[in-house]
Amino acid sequence: MINIGTHVSSSKSLDLVFDRGREVRAQSIQFFLRSPRSWTSVERKEEEKELFVKKSRTYNISPKVAHASYLYNLASPDENLFNKSLNGVIQDLKLCEEIGIDYYVIHAGKTKGESKESGVERIKKAFEKIFRDIPLKRCCFLVETLAGQRGEVGESIHEIKQLIEPFEGVNIGVCIDTAHLFASGYRIDRENGLLEYKEVFDNLIGLEKIKLIHCNDSKVPFGSKKDRHEHIGKGFIRLEGFRVIVNDKLFRTLPFILETPKEGNMDIINIQKLRELEHP
Ligand SMILES: [Zn+2]
Repeated sequence: MINIGTHVSSSKSLDLVFDRGREVRAQSIQFFLRSPRSWTSVERKEEEKELFVKKSRTYNISPKVAHASYLYNLASPDENLFNKSLNGVIQDLKLCEEIGIDYYVIHAGKTKGESKESGVERIKKAFEKIFRDIPLKRCCFLVETLAGQRGEVGESIHEIKQLIEPFEGVNIGVCIDTAHLFASGYRIDRENGLLEYKEVFDNLIGLEKIKLIHCNDSKVPFGSKKDRHEHIGKGFIRLEGFRVIVNDKLFRTLPFILETPKEGNMDIINIQKLRELEHP
């Protein structure tokens, strides 16, 4: 049986992510460590951190995944934004190590019209500083595959390779997002397209670097380079595409995390839909 989880709110207190995950029968959870659209960082209280650690032992929910703020941009030529992002990531990773978070997922950056090369260089510079500041012992740093809107770095396997290749000894990997891959032009909704993707990925990076799957349908058509998530089976990847994805020999061994819109009991329905597609 594949591990299927979902993104949950971390508002009020961080430990509530476990209760919110349990409510929708998620086997794994993802959440933000801070508000994803505001720079104010909350200092987590000791009791809050302790409660998180306690619940992570008693609730049977794993892995625990933190998602970086959407405001961070490690490719930004604006020095202020670059530094704020860098410091934000470092603070986040300190917390991840402290409370035992398994994966930290980040959208590496976007160039918004600047050259991709300079974006890649800035991100690598940031990564160097980050990994020098925080030796990752427990938490694995995951670079996410992106759709390519507004010059996002990480829309191709080649770009992901450039970002992670220099960090051989670091606890670093890749989170793939089904909606982003589809929108960026990888035909992963078909068996031959998925096999081709994996083959190229294996040759350039190595499949063992893929640690996590963001499982989302796409509201926008194939190759549109836009990042718009949709409920499973309601978008352009369709149920048939997800049947291929959840039954892939490699993918079915990895955790799937839903980042579909939060509407009513749709988390439960999306999880059920994926379950129904799974071959025994
Ligand atoms: Zn993401």
